[in-house]
Amino acid sequence: MTQRGHHFLNIPGPSPVPERVLRAMNRQVIDHRGPDFQKLGREVLAGCQAVFQTKSPVVIYPGSGTGAWEATIVNTLSPGDRVLMVETGHFASLWKKMADRWGVEVDFVPGDWRSGVDPALVEAKLSEDKAHAIKAVAVVHNETSTGVTSRIAEIRKAIDAANHPALLLVDSISGLASADLRHDEWGVDVTVSCSQKGLMLPPGLGFTAISDKALAASKTNTMPRSYWDWAEMMKPNADGWFPYTPATNLLWGLNEAIAILLEEGLENVFARHQRLAAATRAAVEAWGLEILCRNPKEYSPVLTAVMMPPSHDADVFRKIALEKYDISLGTGLAKLQGKVFRIGHLGECNELMLIGALSGVEMGLSAAGVPHRSGGVQAAMASLEGAKTQNAPLRAVAG
Ligand code: PLP
Repeated sequence: MTQRGHHFLNIPGPSPVPERVLRAMNRQVIDHRGPDFQKLGREVLAGCQAVFQTKSPVVIYPGSGTGAWEATIVNTLSPGDRVLMVETGHFASLWKKMADRWGVEVDFVPGDWRSGVDPALVEAKLSEDKAHAIKAVAVVHNETSTGVTSRIAEIRKAIDAANHPALLLVDSISGLASADLRHDEWGVDVTVSCSQKGLMLPPGLGFTAISDKALAASKTNTMPRSYWDWAEMMKPNADGWFPYTPATNLLWGLNEAIAILLEEGLENVFARHQRLAAATRAAVEAWGLEILCRNPKEYSPVLTAVMMPPSHDADVFRKIALEKYDISLGTGLAKLQGKVFRIGHLGECNELMLIGALSGVEMGLSAAGVPHRSGGVQAAMASLEGAKTQNAPLRAVAG
């Protein structure tokens, strides 16, 4: 069936691209060795520092988030180095697998895929490591497979409390520009991100923000690298250039996306995400469904993962919602497949877009015969209005 109106892309990335960003990219390719490019290069590199909340360099790769993960490993670690990681979900597991392949010895603390990294655990593990054999703590800020955030500022404090020199490596691939992430203030050594989530761009760019300490590590570590080598990138970046052909049109888009974020103000961007996430949770609770994230302190502002009632398949529901209402919802990944669906509420999303999406979910649940209570959308509206649904006074109709 042909659908009219716009598609609702409510997966937790890639997220919808604002019209302004689409228009900024819709232009002829320019000479990447010419003066127009140099100006663009300088602007985006400086703009990234604002978004990562850092004065340190941010390296932009043509690549996906997975590439930026690899850049982080090969620039900071040596084969045989020990790294502490926690199994927060699918993406933490994939990053761990990549570290294994690079010959890193990962102390992988098992997790239930419903919780973030426990700062007390980090402190205990590092306190035991008197010889400072652990070279890095690598955590996922916003675990996109579960809708659980880890408290990075508290993890930093835990590392400091243990008086341990380990690097703090943070995957904020789906957190950046949606959830607060202060690279400098929180003492993060490498923040990893990509273009297609909070930055509201198409896929195709990977980022690493690099502290002085991480940069120093990159000068002595022994992991082989070429494409991902920070030194190769940072030399030309100092004047706005790239060592090879950059993704020029994505950089035009990035420049515009950064302008949009800074016009709104990062504080307001984060508050909007919190508001939309709270409204989504109000809807889920009203439906009588369970949120995967166990700890309210770890609720994600980016996405909400919803558990399906037993003997109902989340992917069957998603398929029906897509076919009937033209809405894409996130699938359950790996061991969560069929058991959860994920509602993305990040980036180019506002109150009415969210209410539209939640209506699609509620009608989709009905169409798929998933047991639930109605009234989720109303609860979300009440949450957005800052009111309680129950006993709300009847509203006077302006006449
Ligand atoms: N880490 C997290 C938290 C993610 O959400 C993703 C992708 O969704 C990745 C890593 C991998 O990024 P990419 O698919 O861009 O390679």
